[in-house]
Amino acid sequence: MNSYSFDCTACGKCCNSPPATSLRELFKHRDVFVGCIALGRIPRDAHTPLHAFPVDEANAITITTLALDYPSLGRCPALARDGLCSLHAKGKPDQCIAVPLDPLVPDHLQHAVLAQRSHGAGWIGAQCIQPGEHTGALLLKAGEIVDEQAKAAVQRRRQALAVERELWVASLFDVVRRDFADPLRALAMLPSDGYRTIASVPALISIGTLSTALARSCIAYIDAQTALIHRNVAQAVQRRRLDDRLMTQTLRGFSDVLQHARAHLCALPERTATSVLAKKAEDWFLA
Ligand code: SF4
Ligand code: SF4
Repeated sequence: MNSYSFDCTACGKCCNSPPATSLRELFKHRDVFVGCIALGRIPRDAHTPLHAFPVDEANAITITTLALDYPSLGRCPALARDGLCSLHAKGKPDQCIAVPLDPLVPDHLQHAVLAQRSHGAGWIGAQCIQPGEHTGALLLKAGEIVDEQAKAAVQRRRQALAVERELWVASLFDVVRRDFADPLRALAMLPSDGYRTIASVPALISIGTLSTALARSCIAYIDAQTALIHRNVAQAVQRRRLDDRLMTQTLRGFSDVLQHARAHLCALPERTATSVLAKKAEDWFLA
């Protein structure tokens, strides 16, 4: 079945965790999402996605940003009490606009994504994804994305991955590779069926070093993130749930390293964006 129809009733079922976002989107929604970097490990094969870095014949590492929150809440922090997305007016992340498609999967395999999601745990009961061609709700026709809004969001998400790969992800991969001279050691640090999260610090240092304007933007981001982390941790302390403890520890760790990054960025000498990369980063993050 290569044709699917999609009719979202905004039931909120699939908003059961924070979304994957670009760093630029995290900057935009700094008061809503705690951002982090996810280092993942995937098999290297014909379907290895755009954002993966091959490590050896069999494995690749993925480096992406995403929003992080307490799993016990079971919902995206942007999901309002009325069940609607509170970011609608300001602009939802492209990953969410592309739903139920997965921008990381090539177009010719989107039918498999839709087949899986039409039965997936987060979507059960929503019945928003239906095989076949239904008038007014056609999303995928003969394997091709035909909904213009979804198609544009998929393309924007892929473009963001490509741009940010050049601006900071590639240099982080170099560090990971350097730190683990033996690539197999790097792989051993990553879970085989998930990802490891770290604070956004390496990305912020990479970008903030490029120009004073970018450093100021990163410092403002760190300040907003620190305030958000403190709010989220304070709420978790009030909830008094044992299963929140690990995330509280993680967030406190993020807060500490963000302060170190802030001090580093504040101490940098004044500089304007002269390199092509610095100008590109200013266009991407400050426009
Ligand atoms: S589960 Fe389906 S109907 Fe509900 S919000 Fe998500 S996409 Fe829309
Ligand atoms: S940002 Fe909005 S659409 Fe995306 S997961 Fe959160 S509530 Fe849902």
